[in-house]
Amino acid sequence: MTSIDVYKDAYAAPGAGGSTRNLIAEAGSSARALLLLGRGSDPDSERGVDCPGELPPASDPTLVERARAAKAALGERVFLLGHHYQRDEVIQFADVTGDSFKLARDAAARPQADYIVFCGVHFMAESADILTAPNQRVVLPDLAAGCSMADMARDFQVADCWDVLTDAGIASQTVPVTYMNSSAAIKAFTGERGGLVCTSSNAERALRWAFEQAGAAGGGAGKVLFLPDQHLGRNTAVRQLGLSLDDCVVYNPLKPNGGLTVEELRRARMILWRGHCSVHGRFTAQQVAAVRERVPGVQVLVHPECSYEVVSAADLVGSTEFIIRTIEAAPAGSAWAVGTELNLVRRLADAHPDKTITFLESTVCYCATMNRIDLPHLVHSLESLVRGEVVNQITVPEPVARNARLALDRMLALPELVPAGSVGSSSGSAGSGSAGSGSAGSTGQEAGR
Ligand code: SF4
Repeated sequence: MTSIDVYKDAYAAPGAGGSTRNLIAEAGSSARALLLLGRGSDPDSERGVDCPGELPPASDPTLVERARAAKAALGERVFLLGHHYQRDEVIQFADVTGDSFKLARDAAARPQADYIVFCGVHFMAESADILTAPNQRVVLPDLAAGCSMADMARDFQVADCWDVLTDAGIASQTVPVTYMNSSAAIKAFTGERGGLVCTSSNAERALRWAFEQAGAAGGGAGKVLFLPDQHLGRNTAVRQLGLSLDDCVVYNPLKPNGGLTVEELRRARMILWRGHCSVHGRFTAQQVAAVRERVPGVQVLVHPECSYEVVSAADLVGSTEFIIRTIEAAPAGSAWAVGTELNLVRRLADAHPDKTITFLESTVCYCATMNRIDLPHLVHSLESLVRGEVVNQITVPEPVARNARLALDRMLALPELVPAGSVGSSSGSAGSGSAGSGSAGSTGQEAGR
């Protein structure tokens, strides 16, 4: 997917032709976000920013050797984190691999490392900077490695949305919850307003907690504003908390008042931000049906960033960590169609030749921005550190960091989920119970990007 595709995906939505302040501002900033890799800048965007420096040519046959030598020279002073969706050429150098939250916590648990080199995307490096000690410096090897989903919720848009909720008289009974895949500014907005961050593994607990707070504040049934991934919000609310699809509305930041009437907002329990993952949004229920035809006995395993229709058609739903554990535990000879990022699916297939592992999509579906971190960028970052030069440092300023930490700390204070299977299955074992009932989440949405 090119950056233009990402742009179209995010902004060429029905109704995007209005003339609201949001749309004008978005049009300006989005145009900047279309800059080619390493050219020009858009400091407000997760992607498309300037990435200065002289990169070694990708054709240099000594790149692997150079990366190895630079890492060895830095020793314990550097800690290299690799997200599951990173390329093989990069992941081979990771000291630890995982989802975004696990990696941020791993970084915080390594105080002896002066440098945290985060092979992932921008919002992940921000979280690592928030959670690590002030003397630790976080490096993102390519500053243009952003996340299109995180870019779908900009701080001024979310502030506008809160004004709309205030005008509708419902802000006081609404608690914001933001997915880990959001900018530090959105996490800070959430923290300031009594909300919290969630991952896909603890979204159920986070939502139950948020509904409890919102209900107590509003003297009755509360509401949640869920940012920025509508699918994770909907899947969790409906399949695990027992809300109905009619309880959910979608707030479109490109339309006046989010495209919703005051009555619709007042009636809703879940106000879902109109954001999605450009990778997981590509999977369809038709692909699930097609793979069942094609591969006898196949089990379909997808990420909860997929649409409600896809999740409902799948056998198992869970985070990247859950997907990995499920495949590892599966018996030899079993067949799986996996709906998540292709780098991970390929690695799983290579690691488990005794199982049939296919990619749910019929065409290539890498995360374009994750793939920006390549060997030349990694070598450039590491060799610069060896010279004592910190390039591509990610720093979250105060008070944004403080307020974002509030939202992260509330998440960390949530009780552990009972480890269980999945969001649900095609056999209908999805969660039950009413929103805010405070159950321990026995259906256990296991996920966490
Ligand atoms: S896979 Fe989706 S959510 Fe993850 S970084 Fe890429 S666009 Fe963002």
